[in-house]
Amino acid sequence: MVATIAEREKELLDRVPTGLLIGGRWRDATGGATFDVEDPATGRTLLALADAGPEDGKAALDAAVAAQESWARTAPRERSDILRRAFDAVTARADEFALLMTLEMGKPLAESKGEVTYGAEFLRWFSEEAVRAFGRYSASPEGTLRVLTVKKPVGPCLLITPWNFPLAMATRKVAPAIAAGCTMVLKPANLTPLTSQLFAQVLLDAGLPAGVLNVIPTTRAGDVTGPLIKDSRLRKLSFTGSTPVGRRLLADAADNVLRTSMELGGNAPFLVFEDADVDAAVAGAMAAKMRNMGEACTAANRFLVHRDVAEAFSTALAGKMKALTLGRGTEESTTVGPLIDAKSRDKVDELVSAAVSSGAKPLVGGAPAEGDGYFYQPTVLTDVPADNRILQEEIFGPVAPITVFDDEDEAVRLANATEYGLAAYVFTRDLGRGLRIGERLEVGLLGLNAGVISNASAPFGGVKQSGMGREGGPEGLSEYLSTQYVGISDPWADRA
Ligand code: NAP
Repeated sequence: MVATIAEREKELLDRVPTGLLIGGRWRDATGGATFDVEDPATGRTLLALADAGPEDGKAALDAAVAAQESWARTAPRERSDILRRAFDAVTARADEFALLMTLEMGKPLAESKGEVTYGAEFLRWFSEEAVRAFGRYSASPEGTLRVLTVKKPVGPCLLITPWNFPLAMATRKVAPAIAAGCTMVLKPANLTPLTSQLFAQVLLDAGLPAGVLNVIPTTRAGDVTGPLIKDSRLRKLSFTGSTPVGRRLLADAADNVLRTSMELGGNAPFLVFEDADVDAAVAGAMAAKMRNMGEACTAANRFLVHRDVAEAFSTALAGKMKALTLGRGTEESTTVGPLIDAKSRDKVDELVSAAVSSGAKPLVGGAPAEGDGYFYQPTVLTDVPADNRILQEEIFGPVAPITVFDDEDEAVRLANATEYGLAAYVFTRDLGRGLRIGERLEVGLLGLNAGVISNASAPFGGVKQSGMGREGGPEGLSEYLSTQYVGISDPWADRA
């Protein structure tokens, strides 16, 4: 008998561990506290999870510290094999992970499947990198020493992830930490913790030893992680989330002189030059804007379009946005899901209303959608004044504000007029121009005639207030390694 959709959802939720993972065992929170995780498309509770308190956070770090020494001594191939088995398992269970992400986060199933592929790829990439943490051996210039460098795991890490990519944000940190030989405490976002729970069980099943990964969902992020960041046994903090929270955590981490990786907010400009292929630019714009309903740090936040193609681009973009279908992510027809919560939807609406009051014109959308769930209409705004709030803040919603420019210098000046420096997109048929503009843009990531550029093999990260450190690529492994230098006396000294 074929299971109904509701039965499939229930069966999946029944398989999600609901406890805290500490020392290889799922257990209740101290005092038995729990919190509800809801479906943003319906507001319905999906599952109640254990709600970690400060004692549980400490127990998780105790477990990570206890496991660190033996884990660091495991053969790189052993760590690599665990990651590879986890990659195979997540890939084999792609439909299950995708459905779970759609249930807790709201994105359409097709996008969740895309995230499973992207997120799983970090497991495969770092299973391959685990055996390539090379040091070097060389002679010092004057010949009196031999320089030996050894790569060692930094030690126990605290990993804090946001709600918008429930699988990929976890695998992007957990996989390199495992590859490097670090133990860790993972604190997922309280809005979307279920995927991390299921992923942690996959890693246990793949043979990850007890205590290497500890997972502590909580509604008291600051109370639980604050003492860990101050604990001298912790060696690294890797955080992905908003710039204001990142800034605060950096200040706390300074007391303990922690290694930090900070993947923070963005305000990506999307530049379309007069020589661009407008159809390709519109397709790129839809991907850069609408992936994750606009709830991505790399989301195109401001569209800067050359005057000569502004009308053609705006009309075509508005047409594509109008054709999208809002709905629950589990429905096959849905191309745009709900925003994560009422607060996010209301913030998007506030930004749009303020822009319209200042003279911006909605070509399409411009208001929340009717009905249950936190839906917002796909929106295109033209004539947005250059100093408007919507161009300065992360919108984190399906809204595309368009501003016109006249030449390269103006385009670069507008693009760089933000405290953020994560991603930018440039559409032009002139490769020389694309590279020239790229050299002038203050960003860590550049899409050249491409609207989606996240890839496990590439270094992801920002400059300015978008953070520091890189995830993915060979750089992603170095974030979890420290370099020890061994100076060796000249082996030829006795022969002189
Ligand atoms: P957020 O509010 O900063 O939260 C991120 C994580 O930090 C969550 O796990 C949150 O826990 C936790 N947190 C909040 N306050 C904390 C505190 N005082 N101490 C310790 N942890 C704390 O960000 P978000 O709303 O989840 O995510 C959206 C933001 O993330 C956007 O700004 C987006 O641009 C950014 N982001 C950046 C990247 C990147 O790679 N650069 C990728 C994705 C997202 P709770 O869930 O319990 O509040």
